[in-house]
Amino acid sequence: MSGAINYLKRVRRGAMFIIEGPSGTGKGAVCKEVLARDPHIKFSVSVTTRAPREGEVDGVDYHFMSEEEYDRLILEDAFYERVNSQYGHRYGTLRSEVDSFLNVGEDVLFDMDWFGAQQMREKAPNDVVTIYLLPPSIKELRKRLEGRNTDSKDVIEQRMGQFVDKVSHWREFDYVLINEDLEDTIRKVQRIISGERMKRVRQPGLQEFVETLVEEAQKA
Ligand code: 5GP
Repeated sequence: MSGAINYLKRVRRGAMFIIEGPSGTGKGAVCKEVLARDPHIKFSVSVTTRAPREGEVDGVDYHFMSEEEYDRLILEDAFYERVNSQYGHRYGTLRSEVDSFLNVGEDVLFDMDWFGAQQMREKAPNDVVTIYLLPPSIKELRKRLEGRNTDSKDVIEQRMGQFVDKVSHWREFDYVLINEDLEDTIRKVQRIISGERMKRVRQPGLQEFVETLVEEAQKA
């Protein structure tokens, strides 16, 4: 029986967790902590044509590449999903990046916009779990954006201006969390991940496990 239980634990189908929310809701901080606390969830490093920001590392934050390299990947059908940002940059999720984790039963976490989430949901409806983060108030959202000290006043106003448009997609997500307290939100995301891992479809080893139980019951 212990052999069957071990098999059950080994054979897992990884899920894809997408966390999205308007700028300033804290999705970056939530993603970072969830990844740091759970070795079985991996970050999907996206491709982008934008230049690296200070401190960003190629292959860690993004796979930074030229427009030509990006075009070549489109021709090779290398993307799960891709999007052109309003600032003229292009982003995308590589199939190879995601499949290398899912195939060995690891879950994958994505930081992508609602349009990417929509494409992923269409391509892999049974494997994608989406989580939307909301700020507790607009006052708090502005406070967080200003507190980041990374964006100019113009960029902050731009991000505030995009809120209404971005938040209009909240109903498309499976789970919606109000990020009032970072630690509390991280724990909630971890609970969502645990629950999703227990779904029958994510435990393909169950068939064999139950067959073993039935065999033993018939012998007893
Ligand atoms: P940034 O340039 O600030 O890193 O990201 C800009 C936006 O692009 C963010 O909303 C981020 O979630 C989104 N993004 C980053 N990578 C991907 C990706 O691979 N696909 C999609 N659809 N969006 C992405």
